[in-house]
Amino acid sequence: MSHPIALYLHIPFCETKCPYCDFNTYAGIEPLIPQYVDALAEELRLWGQALADSPKVKVILPPQKSSEGRRVPQQVGTIFFGGGTPSYLPPQHIQRLMDTARASFHLLPDAEATLESNPGDVTPERLAAWRQAGINRLSIGVQSLDDGLLSLLGRRHTSAEAVQAYRNARAAGFTNVNLDLMFGLPRQTLAQWRDTLAPILDLRPEHLSMYCLTLEEGTPLWAWVRSGAVPEPDPDLAADMYLLAQELAEAAGYDHYEISNWALPGYEARHNLAYWRSQPYLGVGPGAHSYLDGYRFAVAKSPRTYIQQVRECSSLPASLWTPQALKERGLLESSEAIDARTARGETMMMGLRLSEGVADAAFRGRFGVGLRETYASQILDLEEVGLLCWEGDCLKLTARGKLLGNEVFQRFLG
Ligand code: SF4
Repeated sequence: MSHPIALYLHIPFCETKCPYCDFNTYAGIEPLIPQYVDALAEELRLWGQALADSPKVKVILPPQKSSEGRRVPQQVGTIFFGGGTPSYLPPQHIQRLMDTARASFHLLPDAEATLESNPGDVTPERLAAWRQAGINRLSIGVQSLDDGLLSLLGRRHTSAEAVQAYRNARAAGFTNVNLDLMFGLPRQTLAQWRDTLAPILDLRPEHLSMYCLTLEEGTPLWAWVRSGAVPEPDPDLAADMYLLAQELAEAAGYDHYEISNWALPGYEARHNLAYWRSQPYLGVGPGAHSYLDGYRFAVAKSPRTYIQQVRECSSLPASLWTPQALKERGLLESSEAIDARTARGETMMMGLRLSEGVADAAFRGRFGVGLRETYASQILDLEEVGLLCWEGDCLKLTARGKLLGNEVFQRFLG
């Protein structure tokens, strides 16, 4: 496998829990932060050692060798601090984790290093500390510029604070900034969405992630909608909002390179591209997922269990630091070898999210068989109903297919 890996670090702390969120993140467990950062640094160190030093890890990922035959650290092309709210961590912890990543892996000189942030945390002091640590891409959770909707979403910031956070990031020298927005919210009108989009596009962030709200079962917002206390979002209106986002972002010069993501030329999120292109990634921290050389595995979700399990597993020799062994010891809650059929289906599901689509030559290069032979009936059916099309040797979603992506993906996963 020749790709550098994408490295994800999960930070499961939030100041408060937003009522729509079902991510693996917690409010009120701040006393765990020092032990948690110790465990995360230890997990990074152990993975770095295992992927560089142990011949047995060949079953996961071949260790790379220098020309003199010395084992060399695994290359890392991107780092992503996600959560949770990584910006909520005292910044010295970000510095320590970046230092540990550098000491444990070969972080490529042009590596993209992203940190997710909440607007209230984006202060000049923290920005300077993040830059010092090596963070070169900032993602800010703006969500909306409507204060009423921000309040409904339980966000801790106002629209003015979100814009100020962006300006602070620019003043601190960040030249690669993503803004996260949400649409399809209860009570949100098309006019309100336009009133968020237009000023956001005027700010010219390099990247925009715009996701339709999903009502996750079991969250407070889901319960409020269920009880009738909050109206259910209208899916047709949400589709109109998506089309408006497409239209305005395109007119402003953004490339709609993935179903929910737009970028100025050259600023696509390299870390997420690794997921969408089915390239290898390693996730550390509770609930984080990894995909390395045909194995998919996920860490146990509870931060307390995680801290405990990393301590217990840290005495393992590097040769035993493998998904199979870590699952037996309880650090991983799942680990499975991905068979070729599943890998092909996942490649379609992830690759079709991208406007570049899935190239027949690349698919054949990876699986030894072309798209038409593998998915003859699915492709014909989906072409016939106008959801898929060919452009050269690339199979892509049509404009309508982008609205109905989940229906298309299901056809390749069966
Ligand atoms: S800040 Fe983000 S991760 Fe934390 S609870 Fe809110 S939506 Fe979830």
